[in-house]
Amino acid sequence: MASAKDPVCGMTVDTDRTPASAEYEGKTYYFCTPGCRAAFLADPNKYAS
Ligand SMILES: [Zn+2]
Repeated sequence: MASAKDPVCGMTVDTDRTPASAEYEGKTYYFCTPGCRAAFLADPNKYAS
């Protein structure tokens, strides 16, 4: 099992199970919900590290 941190809300997400992910500048980000994904995509520079 792999986990990643949701950059929007800070929650730890299981990358195998989460329904929401997005690629930005060559990196894949994972989100707890599609809502967090939408927030990220609305302003990715604010969240991407
Ligand atoms: Zn989230």
